[in-house]
Amino acid sequence: MQGARNELLLPILREVWGYPALRPGQGEAIGAWSAGREVVALLPTGGGKSMCYQLPALVERRLGRGTTLVISPLIALMQDQVDSLMARGVMAAALNSHQSKYDQEEVEAALEAELLDVLLVSPERAAQPRFKRLISTCEIALIAIDEAHCVSSWGHDFRPEYMRLGELRELVDAPMMALTATATPRVVDEIVRGLGLRDVELVRGDFARPNLQFSVSLQSSSDKRLAEMQQVLEDNGLRACETVAAELRSRNFRVGFYHGGRSQEDRCKAQLAFEAGRTRVLVATNAFGMGIDYPDVRVIVHWQAPGSLAAYYQEAGRASRDGQPGHCLMFFSAGDMMLQRRLVRDAKDRERSNEALEGIEAYAMASACRQRLLCAHFDPEAELADCGTCDVCVDIDAVLHKLESQHESKGPVEKLSRDELDTVVAAVGNLRKPVGKSSLARALRGSKAKALRKYGLQNLPEHGALKEQSEASIVAAIGELLREGRLATRGQKYPTVWLPDKAVRASKTVAETDRAKPSGAGKARKTRSAGKVSNLRRALELYRNRTAKKLSWKPYMVMHKKVIDQLDQTRPRSLQELYEIDGMGPAKVDRFGWDLLDIVRRYDSRPSA
Ligand code: ADP
Ligand code: ZN
Repeated sequence: MQGARNELLLPILREVWGYPALRPGQGEAIGAWSAGREVVALLPTGGGKSMCYQLPALVERRLGRGTTLVISPLIALMQDQVDSLMARGVMAAALNSHQSKYDQEEVEAALEAELLDVLLVSPERAAQPRFKRLISTCEIALIAIDEAHCVSSWGHDFRPEYMRLGELRELVDAPMMALTATATPRVVDEIVRGLGLRDVELVRGDFARPNLQFSVSLQSSSDKRLAEMQQVLEDNGLRACETVAAELRSRNFRVGFYHGGRSQEDRCKAQLAFEAGRTRVLVATNAFGMGIDYPDVRVIVHWQAPGSLAAYYQEAGRASRDGQPGHCLMFFSAGDMMLQRRLVRDAKDRERSNEALEGIEAYAMASACRQRLLCAHFDPEAELADCGTCDVCVDIDAVLHKLESQHESKGPVEKLSRDELDTVVAAVGNLRKPVGKSSLARALRGSKAKALRKYGLQNLPEHGALKEQSEASIVAAIGELLREGRLATRGQKYPTVWLPDKAVRASKTVAETDRAKPSGAGKARKTRSAGKVSNLRRALELYRNRTAKKLSWKPYMVMHKKVIDQLDQTRPRSLQELYEIDGMGPAKVDRFGWDLLDIVRRYDSRPSA
C-alpha cells in the first residue's frame, strides 16, 4: 500500500496543483500517513496545512479507497476551499448549517453515490446522529481534523463539539490526521487524547517567520499609542500615511472598522472596502475571522495584548504571508492585562487564563529575541538563532531602557540578595490573606499607610525588614519569585501573591472583599450610596466636557447624562458591557469605548469621595 501511495503522490501534486514538490512539513506529514500512521501536523499559518490531507485524499481515490472527511470549524471558509478544489477538477463538497436543506440532501446523495473526493463538515454536523448514520454506510479513506487545537480547553478556540470527534472512530475505520497552526506541547497532548489518536507521528513545521519584525510597546496612553502606530505605518511605507494618520487621530475613519457589534452587512462592506484597497487600514476586533487571509497585509498592530501567546501568534502571523517583509507591533500595559483578567469570569478558566496571560506578559517584558521566544513557545526544544530584526535584536539597550522606565517613578531596580528573597517568601507565609505586590512591597519597606492596615500588614513580622530596598526592586523580586514558582498568584481583579500550596482561608480574596465592602457581595457594583458624587462620575463628566470641546460638540452629544448615570452604576469592564448601555451604540463605542473603559478601570477601585 505504502509503495502505491508514494508513487502517486508527486504526479498528482504536479498534475492537479502544478507544484513541483511538497514543503518540508507537508512531506513529513504525508509520509507518515502513507506509512499507515496517524498524524498530528503542526504547521504555521500559511504553511500549507490543507495540502496535507487534500493530496492523500486524491491518492486514496485513485486507489479506490473512498472519500476523505475533513472537519473544519470555519464554516465561512468551507465554500472557498470547495470552490478552489472544484476549479482544479477535484470533487469536493461541504455540509454545514449555512446550506439549504436541498443542497444538503444533494451532498449526502453524492457521498452515498461515491462521487466525492473530499467532504468538508462542521464539527456540529459531525456530531449529529443523521450524519453519523450516513457515514457509517460509506467508504471513508481518511478523517482530517483541521484547526485541531479546538479540541483543547487550554487552547484559545475551545469548541466542545471537537471533544466528540473521537466518536467517529466507532463508525468509521479510517486513520485520522489532526492539523493546527497553534499547538503548545500541552495542547498537542490534549489533541492526541481528545481524538483518541493511535500510533501518532508528530510533525512540526518551521514556525520561524524571518520576514516578520516583532516588537512590543509599553505605552498605556491612547495618544502615545496612536503616535507610535502612526510611526510604524509610516515606516512601512503605507501610502497616504499622513491622511491615514490624521484620520486615525481624529478617528474620522477612512480607516475601516470591523467588530461583532456591527451588522452583517456593515461588516461585509468594511471587509470588501479593505479587500479592494479603498481602506488601507482596518481596525478590527478578533470578530474579523481567524481564517481570513490576504497575502499582503504588511502591518499587524495589536492595540491591546490578546489573551495568550498562541492567539497572538495566530493573529500576528497573518502579516505578509507572501514572504515580503512585514511588521507586527503589540501594545502592552499592565492595564490591558487587568482588562483581560476581568473578561474571564469563570473561576475554572481563571487559572488557565492567568497562565496564558503570563505568557503574553513574559513576551512583552522580554529582553531576548521575540521571534525566538515565540518559536520556543511552540517548541521548547527548538534551537534558534536570534532573528536580527525584532526590536530586541535591533536595539537591546532601547528595550532595556523602556523596561526600566516602567519603574521610573519608583526608582531603578536592584536585584535582591538570597536572604532578602527568603524574607519576602517568609512574609508571604505570614500573611492572613493574599495581597497585591505593591502593598506587600510597601509593607516590607515599613510603610504605615492606612490602606495597609486593613490587611493587617503593619503587624507582619517582616514589616520594615527591607527598608533599604526600593519599592520597584521589591516588586521586581516578587515577580521573579512568581516566575520561579516560589510564590503564586491568586484572585482575578488584581492578582495577589500567596504561597503556592497554601489554602486561602476566607473564600474571598482581598480584592473581592475590598470591592464588596459596604453593601455585601455581588451588589457592590450596583448599589452606590445615593447623593454622593463618585470620583468615577467626576472623571466621566470631565472627559465628556473635554471631548466635546475638542470636537466642537455639545456635551450631551458625546454622552447623555443618563449614559454617565449608567456607566457609574454598572461600571462596565468590556466593550460588550458598554454596548449593553442605552445610548452607547456601535459608533459611540468605537469612538469613545476604550477611553471610557480606561476611566472606569482607573476610578472604579478608588473609594467614593
Ligand atoms: P494554512 O492552512 O496552513 O494556513 P494553506 O493550506 O492555505 O495554509 O496554504 C497556504 C498557501 O500555500 C496556499 O496558497 C497553497 O496553495 C500554497 N501551497 C501549499 N502547499 C504548497 C506546495 N507544496 N508548494 C507550493 N505552494 C503550496
Ligand atoms: Zn530577534
